[in-house]
Amino acid sequence: MSDCIFCKIAAGDIPANKVYEDDDVVAFHDIKPAGDVHFLLVPKRHVESLAHCGADDAVMLGKLLLLVPKLAAEQGLERGFKTAINTGRGGGQEVFHLHVHVYGNK
Ligand code: AMP
Repeated sequence: MSDCIFCKIAAGDIPANKVYEDDDVVAFHDIKPAGDVHFLLVPKRHVESLAHCGADDAVMLGKLLLLVPKLAAEQGLERGFKTAINTGRGGGQEVFHLHVHVYGNK
């Protein structure tokens, strides 16, 4: 989506402090961290929110979630971490491209 900031980060069109990238997923530090570490895991393909996912997204969702503990440990959150997927305006979502928040203190 041309006006989506996370699509632009995924495409490399605007800079981000990336912690992981593959063909399907990119992860980068949040610009307003809620802890010592705070990164976002994002599918490269534009999906507005968790509420817009369907059966076709099962593999992508599984991949995102399975990456969470691996990347959290790599970022120094071996003691544990919090995750959030804000969904819809009522759920506090501000960027309408699905993303998983991962954050915590070392
Ligand atoms: P949400 O409220 O769940 O939609 O969260 C969106 C998150 O994206 C917020 O925590 C923002 O700080 C973060 N954010 C917005 N723009 C950027 C950006 N260019 N790079 C990194 N994080 C961003």
